[in-house]
Amino acid sequence: MHEVDMTKCLLLSMNQWKQQHAPVIPTVQQVHLQVGTFTCVEPDQLVFTWGVAVQGSWLAGAQLVIESLPLVGRCLQCNGSYAPSSAAAYRSPCCDQPMEEIISGRELRIRSVDYTLATTTPSPAMLPVQPHASAAEPAQLLPHPASPTTSLAAAPAA
Ligand SMILES: [Zn+2]
Repeated sequence: MHEVDMTKCLLLSMNQWKQQHAPVIPTVQQVHLQVGTFTCVEPDQLVFTWGVAVQGSWLAGAQLVIESLPLVGRCLQCNGSYAPSSAAAYRSPCCDQPMEEIISGRELRIRSVDYTLATTTPSPAMLPVQPHASAAEPAQLLPHPASPTTSLAAAPAA
């Protein structure tokens, strides 16, 4: 149940993200996820498990939007990039080198979250893309704490 574990990680990250806005609970419309094809995650299955998991939670109605990133390897012989195929045992077609470096295809990260805060006018927030997220580690799932400018700063104690 790969996708179930992925959904748990996602919910964990989203809950942490929510706490950045406390006490306001953001209303999330869409969560944009980048998933590399080499992660073996089935996007349809992930959307399904997500939809079941968020029912009745603060994320109810939030849509998971998945962008698939193709597998791209780098040939260590000529430094060229290529699209590895399992039929060729992922070896480079140019120099017949084994795949030792993956440029893209193992990503699993939240790219951005479209949400609104009850105290502000609706504004979608674009979170910056992490330049080198190589492994599907839970830490990579945490969105960057960038947020629309809100005047939630606590007033200094008198
Ligand atoms: Zn090559």
